[in-house]
Amino acid sequence: MHTYDHIESEDPEVFSIIQGEDKRQAEGLELIPSENYVSTAVREAMSSSLTNKYSEGYPGKRYYGGQEFTDQIETIAIERAKKLFGAAYANVQPLGGANANIAMYMALLEPGDTVLGMDLSHGGHLTHGHPVTYISKVFRFVRYKMKNIETGEIDYDLLRETAIAEKPKIVLAGFSAYPRELDWRRIADIAHEVGAYAVADVAHIAGLIAGGSAKNPFDYGFDVMTRTTHKTLRGPRGGMILIRESEEVAKKIDKAVFPGLQGGPHMHQIAAKAVSFKEALNPAFKDYARQVVMNAKAMADVFLADGARLITGGTDNHLLLLDVWSSYEISGGEAETLLDRAGITLNKNSIADDTRKPMDPSGIRFGTPSLTTRGFTTSECEAVAKMMIEILKKRDDETVERVREEVRVLAAAHPIPESFVNLV
Ligand SMILES: *Cc1c(COP(=O)(O)O)cnc(C)c1O
Repeated sequence: MHTYDHIESEDPEVFSIIQGEDKRQAEGLELIPSENYVSTAVREAMSSSLTNKYSEGYPGKRYYGGQEFTDQIETIAIERAKKLFGAAYANVQPLGGANANIAMYMALLEPGDTVLGMDLSHGGHLTHGHPVTYISKVFRFVRYKMKNIETGEIDYDLLRETAIAEKPKIVLAGFSAYPRELDWRRIADIAHEVGAYAVADVAHIAGLIAGGSAKNPFDYGFDVMTRTTHKTLRGPRGGMILIRESEEVAKKIDKAVFPGLQGGPHMHQIAAKAVSFKEALNPAFKDYARQVVMNAKAMADVFLADGARLITGGTDNHLLLLDVWSSYEISGGEAETLLDRAGITLNKNSIADDTRKPMDPSGIRFGTPSLTTRGFTTSECEAVAKMMIEILKKRDDETVERVREEVRVLAAAHPIPESFVNLV
């Protein structure tokens, strides 16, 4: 499918490892909700000559010569990003989602300022001030939570009380393990009531927003969005920052990304972002986003029918959080290992107010972006959910082997597509 002629002859050691990973991806079912497959066009941009070029600065304002083509590439990426998400300004240089968040904090805060963000065990992200991060030592992070773990309802009253008491400069909404839609309007209003910026980290759901299957926080008054360009958006690994309307904020963000945080932008990655944004602007991407959500709901229904406990009781987006400990008396770590042996890849995950430790928590997190890219429909996703349940219940080698074979057949019937242009 992909040519590696030069690596094969010049570095057989690395070649064979890459081949192994290609095979693993082709023959297994990828349920990690933050992963996806990029098109060959995106991969070609990633391996283009743009990787050779230094272009510190921004289009028209660079610190090196020879920017005729890099300026065009970055401008196209910016214009497409703005169009996709309804933003007045975009910065496409962040190397990843973590960098985008750090630059956003640097732009909007002074050291010691407060951020009010989602509790990490309730679905927030490491980069939202987890104590292991350096950023948690620079800024002060306070938390809001769900009021009801069984429905996923956020405790908006507590959020408002905390905002009034703690005077944050940023109210941050966003998550990597929360399966429900947020009341974006309510959060934006609370942020603005206390004079804070309303910032959404939509890393996980960016593709659903672009495809019209999740709400766009900008429609509800949010000021800034950070996100990754991979995950549901199906672009290259990377990050970006969007600003709804404030030129002043946009200028601060640009300065924070470069020279504040990063050096030269990765122009090959920016070219690949531009290509993926074009794919996401294609009407077919709307069908993709809709199918991702339908597939996740179909899987949720199978688990609920089996009496399992899904955190928040189901899903509105691409991901599910299953309490395997109380549902099937198996730890998240054991479930991850067992399913991996059957070719079903997902990750163990803490659940809200988990009584078990993060290294072997009570839950597993999984989702449908990758399966949907391979053309899986609801009935096939239901079949995958049933395979998972069988393994979680039986756990014997024979069952694992049999399911492994079923997974191979299903995967072979749905090869990873090379192009999304003609898919509807
Ligand atoms: C994935 C994710 C990030 C980090 O993105 P990286 O590209 O891995 O640095 C940040 N925030 C949220 C909510 C995420 O889900």
